Amino acid sequence: MAFATKRIYEEDPYQSHFTANVLSQTRREDGHTELILDKTAFYPTGGGQPNDTGMIDGFEVIDVYKDGKSIVHLLKGNLEHKGTVEGHVNFSRRMDHMQQHCGQHILSAAFQELLSLETIGFHLGKEWVTVDLKASQINVDDVRKVELRANEIVMENRHIETRLMPVTEVDEQIRAKLPSMDGIVRLVEIDQFDLSACSGTHPYRTGEVGLIKIIGWEPYKGNVRLTFVCGLRAMRIARQFQDLLFEAAKLLRTNPYDVVPSLVRMKGEYEQYVRENRHLKESLIRQEAKQWIKQGEKISSVTLHLHQWINKPFQDMKELAKTIIEEPGHVVIFASEGQLNRLIAACSENISLSMRELVDHLLEMTQGRGGGSRIFAQLGFTAASVQDVLKFAKKWIMENL
Ligand SMILES: [Zn+2]
Repeated sequence: MAFATKRIYEEDPYQSHFTANVLSQTRREDGHTELILDKTAFYPTGGGQPNDTGMIDGFEVIDVYKDGKSIVHLLKGNLEHKGTVEGHVNFSRRMDHMQQHCGQHILSAAFQELLSLETIGFHLGKEWVTVDLKASQINVDDVRKVELRANEIVMENRHIETRLMPVTEVDEQIRAKLPSMDGIVRLVEIDQFDLSACSGTHPYRTGEVGLIKIIGWEPYKGNVRLTFVCGLRAMRIARQFQDLLFEAAKLLRTNPYDVVPSLVRMKGEYEQYVRENRHLKESLIRQEAKQWIKQGEKISSVTLHLHQWINKPFQDMKELAKTIIEEPGHVVIFASEGQLNRLIAACSENISLSMRELVDHLLEMTQGRGGGSRIFAQLGFTAASVQDVLKFAKKWIMENL
């Protein structure tokens, strides 16, 4: 049996307390109650606006939804009695939804007016609100222009009027935007700015929407998805950004206006330090390589440098090996023992050995991973001891020279 619920929120979006008669109540298996009343101030999910929450006779209203002409309130728990109940809508949540929802009307109309961009999607989330615009891209200047226009409409505090009208009497352009429907349509008009069909809740004046702040935009499924917030959400986000800026200023020991110049200066200094550090490291490695070149084990015409470290950074081993083999006549086998054992096999250009071939043998022996070229190859392994691997490498070099 269908029950029609009178919608108080359509006539008075500010009414949060009401008394109503119970038309039907059903206890669900999960213990919650589905309650239908003869009238309600609770807005059900629909038209991009989330449902209201609140209390009915001391029971928490956790969901509100439409079922034909009825509006169903889902109560947490079992409402025993029938008759008259008292409802209290959580008005701060409703006001937030009205600000975001109406802000979307204003923003979409401003995109249409200034850039002829149509809104094809809308989502009112817990933190952010998004609109999808029929555009392949938009630039920052256009976004700023639209944001300014939208906020001007807010500050002009224009009247917002809601009226019901037979769909046949609705202007052609508006009718084209409606889903196919007959009967009565609800029109929402922002004075001399926007007219759309909408079943949501709206404040009486645009000033109540508060600040409309666009946060960002990105390509989304061939269109542009724009994120924004209105009213108190906009104030909160401005506060968050302010806190971040103040925190950054504190860390940099400067004032908020000097954060960017300070970072630019520090970035320049950092890049200079990185360059200097690289030069210093290179010169240290050259010094170290000179010492290594003087030592080593002579095997026929070559000098072999075979060494083992524990947890030596791979990059350091690699640079040292590459510097040593710049001199003709050297073979380098460096290994570092760690969680993953690493080995480098390198030889000077003039030596007729293939380090790649050696590493291929070692791969077979260790089940490790690696590869490289004739003069420089590397290997990572865990399933063999570094000592055994070095012993094999030395034997292979002696046999192949
Ligand atoms: Zn609306």
